[in-house]
Amino acid sequence: MAARSPAELADIVALLREHLSAGGTRGEFARHHGLTPSTVHGITRRNLPEFHCPPPPPRTSPRRRHRKRPPAPEPLSIAQIQAMQRRDGPPPLFCQWPAGKQGRTWLFCESACEPGQPYCLDHCRISFPRFRDVEAIA
Ligand SMILES: [Zn+2]
Repeated sequence: MAARSPAELADIVALLREHLSAGGTRGEFARHHGLTPSTVHGITRRNLPEFHCPPPPPRTSPRRRHRKRPPAPEPLSIAQIQAMQRRDGPPPLFCQWPAGKQGRTWLFCESACEPGQPYCLDHCRISFPRFRDVEAIA
């Protein structure tokens, strides 16, 4: 857009003041004079502050901020893990080695368990390859 001379600008400002004083809008003025709404807005802001829109009032509600993530839980200690394992109940009395299925029900070996173990002696030997080494030491 070509620059306006100060005289041209003064004419536009005078016409715009008259138009706005008569209750006209900037949009109407822009259309009538072949100007863009932004141009008329700028002319109003710089030359006719009494007709310029005031800035919006400050926000009364607080701005929405990003929610903080909850802190990651502390890792469990060995003692806590052992306490959770103990909560599952006493070790089984009968061998838990699956011996087959009857319909939808699992059947287990059900021989007496080795102390502190989930299986009988034979199944401990199968299940824990190092069980024989422990037996030899004990
Ligand atoms: Zn067994």
